[in-house]
Amino acid sequence: MWKRCLRSSRAGNTGQCALSTRSVCYSRCHPHLHVATRVAVSELSFIPKSVTTSIGMDDLLGRFGVSDAHCHPQDDPAGCAAGFTSLSARYLAVMGTRLEDWEAVEALSAKEPHKVIPCFGVHPWFAHRHALGLAAALDPSQLLDSPPNGKDHPSRHPEFLAPIPPDRWMPRLRSLLTDHPHAAVGEFGLDRAAVVPGTRLQPAWSHQLALTEMHLKLASELGRPASLHCVQGYGALQDMLRTLGPEGCPPRIMLHSYGGSVDLIKGFTKLPKGVGSRIYFSFSSVINGRARDKLLERLRAVPLERLLVESDQNSPLGVDPGLRAILEAVAEARGIAIEDAAAATTNNFLEFYGTCIERMEATQTAVASGD
Ligand SMILES: [Zn+2]
Repeated sequence: MWKRCLRSSRAGNTGQCALSTRSVCYSRCHPHLHVATRVAVSELSFIPKSVTTSIGMDDLLGRFGVSDAHCHPQDDPAGCAAGFTSLSARYLAVMGTRLEDWEAVEALSAKEPHKVIPCFGVHPWFAHRHALGLAAALDPSQLLDSPPNGKDHPSRHPEFLAPIPPDRWMPRLRSLLTDHPHAAVGEFGLDRAAVVPGTRLQPAWSHQLALTEMHLKLASELGRPASLHCVQGYGALQDMLRTLGPEGCPPRIMLHSYGGSVDLIKGFTKLPKGVGSRIYFSFSSVINGRARDKLLERLRAVPLERLLVESDQNSPLGVDPGLRAILEAVAEARGIAIEDAAAATTNNFLEFYGTCIERMEATQTAVASGD
């Protein structure tokens, strides 16, 4: 999800971002509120002159089975209705962000059963809407942090902020995952920068931590890969993973649109008791590409076998261009041919989502044979 836009708007930096105000940027999560906010596909591309390839880009995606490790195409129902037949990307891991979004993810995976890996979770931007206990469901102030200057308080937004009680969303999340054995857990995580639109309130940090731990434990229990969002919370996330240990951590953990430091990459990969070997780092052009030098630095620092590519796009139209752009960056950063970047990251995708793909294809084989 488009955290870069949210962050730049908070910093008052409107120079780079086409979606330059918080209300508009945040609307990527609220497409029903603001519909005219899609970024032109051409804006995604930065094609370094040093990168050359002997085959066309569409051929490249198709030939290597390049897949999208993290995206939200369900936010563009018209684009999805047109079908995915023109997409060159092989598989798409489609992230659900909240109770109201999960139905669209489930429907898209039913419509595109050979292509979509459905993922279900609560994004931190919506953490305050999903109560973990009944007491919090009755008292939104437990789910929202007020600004230190006292200029806002949850009591000023009683209707807008009414949270969903746990019995409405937690059993639903579990049943979606068990009903769809090929599903993964995501998108969830930590975001210190998020502000609830129309307020000066933030999803409570303590609640974000509890929600993240819940998702990690659920993914661990069900043996599913997990896709995490993290903004200004990498230290807390490392501590949590260390504390949960191998028993409480999912089998594979992806940090999507990774924006942490190079030192933190080493810290994650060296987490003790084998947890470090479960961590993958995923990059998008749309988020990471806006700070290009930092992107290249991170792409060089991540072990090649832990590197994933994603579009993080909110429309199927952005998936192929987004994947092409980030592959070009991988090739440039690592000094390798783009074909090698495509082959390596695709291999990593198959490793990361391997159990999901096996189950998806087994189901389709059973359907085809009439079982
Ligand atoms: Zn996302």
